[in-house]
Amino acid sequence: MSTDKHRGVALRTRLQHAGRDTRVEGGSPVNPPIVRASTILFDSVAELEDVRARRSTERLLSYGARGNPTAFALEDLISELEGGYRTRLFPTGLAAITQALIAYLKPGDHVLITDAVYGPVRNFALRFFERYGIRYSFFAADGSDIAQRYLPETRLVYVESPGSLAYEIVDLPALVQGAHAHGALVAADNTWGAGGYLYQPLRHGADIVISAATKYLSGHSDVVMGAVTTREAVWQTFNLSADAHGMTVSPDDAWLVLRGARTLASRLSVHAATALELSRWLAEHEAVAYVLHPALPEDPGHALWKRDFSGSNGLLSFALKDQRPGRAEAVVDNLRLFGIGASWGGFESLVMVAELSNVRSVSDWRGRGTIIRLHAGLEAPGDLIADLEQALSVLPNAY
Ligand SMILES: *Cc1c(COP(=O)(O)O)cnc(C)c1O
Repeated sequence: MSTDKHRGVALRTRLQHAGRDTRVEGGSPVNPPIVRASTILFDSVAELEDVRARRSTERLLSYGARGNPTAFALEDLISELEGGYRTRLFPTGLAAITQALIAYLKPGDHVLITDAVYGPVRNFALRFFERYGIRYSFFAADGSDIAQRYLPETRLVYVESPGSLAYEIVDLPALVQGAHAHGALVAADNTWGAGGYLYQPLRHGADIVISAATKYLSGHSDVVMGAVTTREAVWQTFNLSADAHGMTVSPDDAWLVLRGARTLASRLSVHAATALELSRWLAEHEAVAYVLHPALPEDPGHALWKRDFSGSNGLLSFALKDQRPGRAEAVVDNLRLFGIGASWGGFESLVMVAELSNVRSVSDWRGRGTIIRLHAGLEAPGDLIADLEQALSVLPNAY
C-alpha cells in the first residue's frame, strides 16, 4: 500500500527508498531478503482463521500463492511510482493485461481498445473475447475518433500512450472525461512510461494502470513480470479476481526487478539522451523517410508528450525512403551493436522490423512502409551512430 512516508520527495528519491520496509530484529540489510515460501505457519487455529478472514482486503502473508514479502516490497515501490492505491504482480506483462481485462469486463460488456495496442493484446481480444461474451472495437491511436465509438454497453477504455511501435499519444485527461461520462473505466498500459517514472496515467484520471516490469523497471533483460496498480475505488474488484485466478510471482523474480529499479532514473536519462541523438541523426540522413520519437519536436505527439510526461526513453522508429522488399532487413542484418530481438528496456541496444499496416486496423499505415524499431541501450551514442551509418551504407543506389 502506498504510504505518506515519502510525501513530497522526487520519484528519483522514491526509487531508492520505497520497497525496503522489511525490518527484522537487530540491524537490517539494505535490500529486502528473498523469502521463498509456500506454506506459512500460524501459532493457533484462531490466528490462521483470523488471517484468512482478513486476507481478501488486507495484504497479509497467508500462503505462497497469495504473494510473498519480497513481492510485497516491489508492489509498494510500484504503487509509489504510479501514485496508486495498491499493486499486484503477474508472471508477465501480458498476464497483467489479460487479468485486468478479465477482472473488469463481464458478458454483455463492450470495450474500446486503442489501435496502437501491444500486438498480443489484440490477439487476446480476437481469440478470447467472444467466448467470454465481450464485444470490442478499436479506436484511433491518437483518440481522435473515440467519441463516436461508445456504445451503451461500453464499460472500459483501454489505452496505450505512447502506442506500440509508432508512439501515438492521446490526450488522456480529455479521454478520461469522455469515458467516465459514458460510465466506462479507463485502463492504461504504462510500459513506455517505465511504470510511473516518466508518466503517471492515474494522476491524469485513469483508473487502472498496467506495466511490463520486464522492460525498464527491471532493465537487464533477465526477467519477465507485469504489474497492475489501481485507484482505491476499483481495487477490490481486481484484487478478488487476481486471487481467484491464483496469480503471484516468485520472490527471486521480484528481487531482480527491485534490484533493477534502483537505477531506473539514471539508466533512463542515458537511454533518452541517446535515443534523441540517434533520432536527430537519422532525421537528417538522406536514406531516411521519417523518424518517430515523441521527444523530437516534429513528432505528431510532441506537444502532448511535453505537457504530460516528465521525460522519454530509448525507443524510436524510422522508415527508409527505399521501400523495395528486403531493404530494411538488409540494413538490420548489417547492424553489429544492435541485437535483433523482441522486447526492450534492458541495457543493450536492440532492433527489429515491423509492418504497421498489419497491426493497425483503424489508422491507415499503407504507403508508410516497413519501420525499423530501435531501442537505444547504454552504449556510447557515437558507436551506435557509426554502426547505423555503416549499416545504411549497404543500401545500393537507394536514394
Ligand atoms: C512488452 C510489453 C508488454 C508485455 O510484457 P511481457 O512481460 O513481455 O509479457 C505489454 N505492453 C507493452 C507496451 C509492452 O511493450
